[in-house]
Amino acid sequence: MKRVNARTKRLIEADKANIWHPFTAMSEWQASTPIVIERAEGNYIIDTDGNRFLDATSSLWVTVHGHRVREIDNALKSQLGKVAHSTLLGLGSVPSIELAERLMEITPKNLTRLFYSDNGSTAVEVALKISYQYWYQSGAPEKKRFVSFTGAYHGDTFGSMSVGEVGAFVNKYRPLLFKSLYAPYAYCYRCPVKKSYPSCKIACLDKLEEILKKKNREIAAVVIEPLVQGAAGMITAPKGFLKGVARLANKYDVHLIADEVAVGFGRTGEMFACDAEKVRPDFLCLAKGLTGGYMPLAATLTTEKIYKKFLGKYEDFNAFFHGHTYTGNPLGCAAAIANLDLFEKKKTIERVKESAILMATLLAPLTELTHVGDIRQRGLMVGIELVKNKKSKSRFATKERVGYRVSMDTRNHGIITRSIGDTMIIMPPFSIKKSELKHIIRTVHDSIKRITKK
Ligand SMILES: *Cc1c(COP(=O)(O)O)cnc(C)c1O
Repeated sequence: MKRVNARTKRLIEADKANIWHPFTAMSEWQASTPIVIERAEGNYIIDTDGNRFLDATSSLWVTVHGHRVREIDNALKSQLGKVAHSTLLGLGSVPSIELAERLMEITPKNLTRLFYSDNGSTAVEVALKISYQYWYQSGAPEKKRFVSFTGAYHGDTFGSMSVGEVGAFVNKYRPLLFKSLYAPYAYCYRCPVKKSYPSCKIACLDKLEEILKKKNREIAAVVIEPLVQGAAGMITAPKGFLKGVARLANKYDVHLIADEVAVGFGRTGEMFACDAEKVRPDFLCLAKGLTGGYMPLAATLTTEKIYKKFLGKYEDFNAFFHGHTYTGNPLGCAAAIANLDLFEKKKTIERVKESAILMATLLAPLTELTHVGDIRQRGLMVGIELVKNKKSKSRFATKERVGYRVSMDTRNHGIITRSIGDTMIIMPPFSIKKSELKHIIRTVHDSIKRITKK
């Protein structure tokens, strides 16, 4: 990597002097020489020194068709020639109307109403609030608890943290959060009920049933990341788990909130993860890939039945009193429409399925590495869990920073990855070329070997 640019030096100093980075141990950041991104081209991001990096994390799970896609760029330019922002509080806007129609066409048919916001956390927050308010206005105010899963991540606002379970993200805030109930997610590599699939018959669902059976009168909804838990380290649930959760939610009369913020828009090889098991959730939360990775925009979709409980005279105060300033931002909606057009034009879902097959072939040899414990893949979402001892599945000490060091090493070889704990995450844009995919996996392989050998 060449680092000569005096401007880069100055920018890094200014960054370190002013910016507090998300999910970042800032002492580590201060001691590092960060990369400063200036532009991008296709599947590459380019820093201020002209170094090119393959974007193997899709700029944190959002980029769909690559960077600087002509069609999306043009849609944004065209929208800029009309209006950059107008509010949905008391006014309609053309792109928000057109996008809602488009989303209704491709999402599960029971979903007929869409509420916009601007990020994944708020998409979940909106679902939690509407679910609770629905029960409240249905004469069941005692239905105010939520069930989520071990390893759940639904965002960083207080409501979404309350249904989150990953200790590092929520433990310190526990005293400030409302109390949720947790059922085990199907983490097969470390099975919560010590069985193995498929002979287990998905016995981990029994605990969820137990909770619902005992407490359904107090429960508003079950919140799930369908098929894959992203931030838990790409935990891929076996076939039937999602369907089972949906069946139980229905049986015990609680809502099903599908948080498809990460898995939505093709990531799993289906347009939406719920499609894979023909599940019809009461809420569908969408964000990350919605705008192709261009703009912060989110949507929470729900059913006619739920929507109707919010009707009535103004003075009844049945309305949903919630909204964000940039709700339904026209630029975001314009980017999202162009993104959906490209899914059709480029047959993106087929392409994801093909790339996923190649990905599986490329990943197979990595199982032989001494410290690769588990490789999980669904579509173009991959987690490679590194362990100290393969036999006992024991973890490396946190302070060894193994995952972090592997991802820093891939960077030094031109690939941007980001680990979660000691799980290496690979989430390339769907526009990734075969040769690029090969390059990514080869580099990750070599980096794991290099770092874990020491
Ligand atoms: C990223 C993510 C969120 C939060 O989205 P933000 O846009 O970061 O607020 C929520 N749920 C899941 C499953 C996610 O992956």
